[in-house]
Amino acid sequence: MNLPTLGDWSSFEELARVQETRLDAVLASASRSPFYAARGVPPSLRDAPLTTKADLRDAYPFGLLAVDRTELATYHESSGSTGSPTASYYTQSDWDDLATRYARKHVGIRADDTFLVRTPYALMITGHLAHAAARRAGATVVPADNRSLAMPYARLVRVLHDLDVSVTWSMATETLLWAAAARLAGYSPGADFPALRALFVGGDSLSPARRARIEEIWGVPVVEEYGATEAGSLAGACPEGRLHLWADRVMFEVHTDTDEIRPDGRGRLVVTPLYRDAMPLLRYAIEDEVEVSYRDCACGWWLPDVRILGRTGRVSEATLDEHVFSLPAEYGVLFWRGRVDSGLEIQIEVADRYRAAACADLTASIGDVRVTAVPPGGLVPITRLTSSPDVLKPRSLFGPDEDWDTAHRYY
Ligand SMILES: [Zn+2]
Repeated sequence: MNLPTLGDWSSFEELARVQETRLDAVLASASRSPFYAARGVPPSLRDAPLTTKADLRDAYPFGLLAVDRTELATYHESSGSTGSPTASYYTQSDWDDLATRYARKHVGIRADDTFLVRTPYALMITGHLAHAAARRAGATVVPADNRSLAMPYARLVRVLHDLDVSVTWSMATETLLWAAAARLAGYSPGADFPALRALFVGGDSLSPARRARIEEIWGVPVVEEYGATEAGSLAGACPEGRLHLWADRVMFEVHTDTDEIRPDGRGRLVVTPLYRDAMPLLRYAIEDEVEVSYRDCACGWWLPDVRILGRTGRVSEATLDEHVFSLPAEYGVLFWRGRVDSGLEIQIEVADRYRAAACADLTASIGDVRVTAVPPGGLVPITRLTSSPDVLKPRSLFGPDEDWDTAHRYY
């Protein structure tokens, strides 16, 4: 399979032709899955109805499978905390597309990199995406998961420092937790990790103020990535700092509030992967609110811009995040939480001497809000950042000095 690469086209018209060459194959591939065979594949993508998350759940586990099961390389489920699972699966050739899409960042992965993967490996695709991309580049991968008991923050900081980790992949929030844990371990994040050259982040909201704060703390660029377990990497940051959709590999559309499906504008993102064998998707509706626009960009990638607006609601996490991380850096506010009940309430973690100032500043900037403060450790417990609990394999036989009531733990 010849996958398009950046530079293969040099206008939005050429990009449209790159997409069009794939559409017949995508429709043909869809007709081989039980789900689309039953629904009926239309003559053109323009006539296809949306495929929803509910469709994917109903098709669990293999209703969307369009190849023989023996061809599958990996099986994944997305992270829904409730409800039935949403399955996705990929062949080895699907993985060529997935890994090269993830690797498309303005800060590339190099063979001399030590690349720390700090996103889940269990069921989701995120950890495997970064792992595969880094391996293809010849980098040394440190598989550090963020949901494993084997990798508490104290250990993470040790690895980050002692192994000269140069690039990391995590949620943006993680990089703040590392900063707090590094300080508690006696390190200065901006000075004591000289090998570090970039933080790849995705999976949570990244307001411009939060990005700037993280870059200031670590002294390296924050490189944004946007994707989904059902589709892999969908967008990445260009050298100009804009987030571009990988529209040569995936057809993107927008489902508006007026129920139109358009190539650009504001609405919920709709994706049709163009190079996918195992699990073809026609107009899959990702439930993220976005704004897509086609504008010239000095990077010369000729890809549409996307702004991720997140789930819709009265207040957005990204907006509040922008306010919190616009507080002066000396206040040292890294963690916050908020809730909307009868009104909006925000709680921040801040040292006593900045408590009054931080609460006043935040109230003034957000407006109609109740701001409360807790001391450092009040939201993210200090022990969570400093302790290294033993993680024992389950076993049955114990020695004479062991207390089997405390040693014999199943997590
Ligand atoms: Zn650009």
